[in-house]
Amino acid sequence: MEKKKLYIKTYGCQMNVYDTERMVDVMAPEGYMETDTPEDADLVVLNTCHIREKAAEKVYSDIGRIRKMKDTKKKDGEEMVLAVGGCVAQAEGAEIMKRAPVVDMVFGPQTYHNLPDMVNQSLSLKSQGEKSRILDTGLAVDEKFDQLSKKDVKKKATAFLTIQEGCDKFCTFCVVPYTRGAEFSRSIEDLVKDAEKLAKAGVVEVTLLGQNVNAFHGVSENGEEWGLPQLIRRLAKIDGFERIRYTTSHPHDMTDELLKVHGDLKECMPYLHLPVQAGSDRILKAMNRTHDSASYKDIIRDLRKERPDIAISGDFIVGFPGETYEDFKETMELVRDVKYAQAYSFKYSPRPGTPAAEMDDQVDENIKSERLSRLQALLKQQQADFNNSVIGKTLSVLIEGKGKAEDAVFGRSPYMQAVQVKVGADKVEELQGKIVDVKINGANTFYIEGILA
Ligand code: SAM
Ligand code: SF4
Repeated sequence: MEKKKLYIKTYGCQMNVYDTERMVDVMAPEGYMETDTPEDADLVVLNTCHIREKAAEKVYSDIGRIRKMKDTKKKDGEEMVLAVGGCVAQAEGAEIMKRAPVVDMVFGPQTYHNLPDMVNQSLSLKSQGEKSRILDTGLAVDEKFDQLSKKDVKKKATAFLTIQEGCDKFCTFCVVPYTRGAEFSRSIEDLVKDAEKLAKAGVVEVTLLGQNVNAFHGVSENGEEWGLPQLIRRLAKIDGFERIRYTTSHPHDMTDELLKVHGDLKECMPYLHLPVQAGSDRILKAMNRTHDSASYKDIIRDLRKERPDIAISGDFIVGFPGETYEDFKETMELVRDVKYAQAYSFKYSPRPGTPAAEMDDQVDENIKSERLSRLQALLKQQQADFNNSVIGKTLSVLIEGKGKAEDAVFGRSPYMQAVQVKVGADKVEELQGKIVDVKINGANTFYIEGILA
């Protein structure tokens, strides 16, 4: 079969990283091999993110850049198919078609299993001299997973496994319920099968994914109603899985049983990404978050009882409509109280079609920027403190790739810290995908470093 080149640019969250990997899987049997640059690709996919305005706008500037490459290829008598997938495609499919005639096809996050058919259709239209304009933005999730489960898995040490998609929480700032659709949990039977396939392919660390991963629920092999805690316990029994992570969780669905899994199960890594968004109860209510700052802090306290060393990560939004300086101070207080190992923080970005975008009291951009830089300075300091706190300890590190230096490898600690390990140039290859003990002897905000213990 003639080999063709596929270039995918991934924007945004881990769900998109997962979707990109699956697109590579579905195109492989069609003869498409992944490449690092778009210039000479036969198929270019932009797997987009709609969560904030900046992310969405980047897509249009990238389309402009790729148009030039497509024109150059055309002059040489070759075709490039340009596709826009992901959440911008879902939310603004028709507008993309209008604004960017160079785009051959647009598809949403739930239809990319049809990519081979869409590409063939596009190429056949082009060969007949017709314009290819394909739009596929349906939201039927189960069909996608049925198709994807049939594909082979490449040999690797870490993998994502989507267990849940979509969201019914409708936080007033967020587009996810509109772009990814209603909450949907995959069947436990299918998940166990997929997980066993991953373990056979050499996966030692699996990260369970979902927009609301801890809202996962289903009926088990023996007819019991299961949630995420039971699923994690079941997957931990699979031979080969040494590390299990899950993301992203909502405070509303953090059950006591799930906290207990962190205390009981050595495979469940001591790290939890639990977005809070804000520290002010008034703002949390306006965000429709269904938790307040006290209930969030209670979860963290109870979790630390189960697993005292757990690393906490979070998401924050500053400058939500109506946020006063007092509200912002409450966010800073909550951060000081919780002490984060790592966090993501953003300026509120009004998203078309969401209730918050229509609220009257939007916050000035300069105020948002100032609050964000203050919050980020505090979070950065906490991350450095957390990293410094492991100096002198021996941590198990899963080696994921080559390190910064010739004689070093890169990996992740149980707490999700990036780790640089000096191992000697002769060991760099053989350690890939292995879990090793590392004596930590240095740290900064971004990573920790050490030597083999
Ligand atoms: N489901 C997760 C939760 O409940 O927190 C997060 C989903 S979202 C993909 C990731 C993060 O993007 C959110 O936690 C929030 O902090 C941020 N985000 C979402 N909408 C935003 C907006 N309109 N402006 C700024 N940040 C936003
Ligand atoms: Fe968006 Fe809220 Fe759903 Fe998270 S819980 S995906 S922030 S609507």
